[in-house]
Amino acid sequence: MNEHDSERIAGLLEADGLTLAASPDDADVVVLNTCCIRENADNKLYGTLGHLKSAKAARPGMEIIVSGCLAQKDRDLVQRKAGHVDVVVGTHNVHRTVELLHASRASGPVTEIWDEALDEAEAWPSALPVRRDVDHSAWVTIQIGCDNNCAFCIVPAVRGREISRPFAELVAEVERLAADGVIEVTLLGQNVNSYGRDLTTSLRSESASALDATRAGPVWAADAARRPRPLFADLLGAVAAVEGIGRVRFTSPHPKDLRPETIAAMADHPEVCPHLHLPLQSGSDRVLAAMHRGYTADRYLARLAAARLAIDDLAVTTDIIVGFPGETDADFSATLEVAAEAEYDSAYTFIYSPRAGTEAAELTEQFVAPDVVAERFERLRVVVERSALARHHARIGRVEEVVVEGPSKRDPSVLTGRTAQNKLAHFASSVPLRPGTLATVRVVGAGPHFLRAELAEVLAGPRHRTRIPVVAG
Ligand code: SAM
Ligand code: SF4
Repeated sequence: MNEHDSERIAGLLEADGLTLAASPDDADVVVLNTCCIRENADNKLYGTLGHLKSAKAARPGMEIIVSGCLAQKDRDLVQRKAGHVDVVVGTHNVHRTVELLHASRASGPVTEIWDEALDEAEAWPSALPVRRDVDHSAWVTIQIGCDNNCAFCIVPAVRGREISRPFAELVAEVERLAADGVIEVTLLGQNVNSYGRDLTTSLRSESASALDATRAGPVWAADAARRPRPLFADLLGAVAAVEGIGRVRFTSPHPKDLRPETIAAMADHPEVCPHLHLPLQSGSDRVLAAMHRGYTADRYLARLAAARLAIDDLAVTTDIIVGFPGETDADFSATLEVAAEAEYDSAYTFIYSPRAGTEAAELTEQFVAPDVVAERFERLRVVVERSALARHHARIGRVEEVVVEGPSKRDPSVLTGRTAQNKLAHFASSVPLRPGTLATVRVVGAGPHFLRAELAEVLAGPRHRTRIPVVAG
């Protein structure tokens, strides 16, 4: 989500006449788009601002913008700690970035934080100009904010209440992207399964009201067989049906809200990639309850089993937090057991980080000692990598469809492609293949985080138009 916000900020600045600089050292405007989910982001921001202070002293024209959820959280504190910052802009008014930059030029440093999305039409990062790094793949924010209250999480405080973007607007956005050559979209939200919950319930009435058209949108209102309001599954189906979109991904579904309809939509639409990112957080029912996650380990595993049964060749990934306050050895063993049973393809594992203002941050007397957490973290890594490696080895010999991303970051002599299961496959090619090329590769080897492959067949070149640089004058 932050990366998507960054694209939007870059798009706004480009629309204002700026071009991308090679490094912060030669930039006239430096944007630090921040995240405050874990503590080290705080430290990184103020450390980086310290470095930029001397850069700005050497080049006084440099302008610094701090945006994102850490800006939302710290507000005036950013400029109190770092007086050389020109603009501080929060999560609900990203669309104001350029105006604020102009204002700071006219009358000095400015901090503008909104407490909520006052201007819904502008609240959608996807509604702003964009500067995408890749042409074939795009993010689409379907929902902002979060109405849950996970005890560890600061997101609801900095991203506000949950608001769904109107159905018709989303479909229209994906159609525009497809017309522009995008073949893969990733639908973004903190709890995508609850998409539509806040869209008007007036759709329950027989006759479509004016609100139907604005909130759920005419596409939805015109469908006589519609549900009272669209489900995430309906959105998946509608986006999958857009001509030219070959891959639909989404993140993140909350396990408590994973509905059979979502699983069915994944199974029924081949465009929806067979990959489910289902954050577990903990395998201990006691810890899950303390986190207010709304499911037990058994319920989680049952939903996962249902998804695996319905969706052919499903890859499953997750998020797990180690060292939530009060986590005992027994709790952690339960997490290891669930992780082993879930046989994840990969997992983002996090050390619990207290965030001021969240419920769990108050439980200081229950904080787990750092050495205990570090040891648990390592044990979890071993369990996750074991299943990831086994699942990747099982793919050796298979032919997979990949979308080329470009040269491998580690070894530029080979290309990297992304499989439908969201795995990176590295392969050599005697012909240059541009990002967005569709190809098949044969898997010949595997590591815990990637596949090694050989090019089998090039299926299609990129659909997007190649940008032709225009020289001014
Ligand atoms: N909305 C998603 C969900 O409920 O699964 C998660 C979004 S959160 C931005 C991404 C991940 O960050 C979470 O799944 C969680 O594992 C991790 N996270 C959030 N707060 C954390 C904290 N205080 N300490 C460590 N990890 C945290
Ligand atoms: Fe945070 Fe929980 Fe909302 Fe995810 S569902 S963003 S973890 S509060």
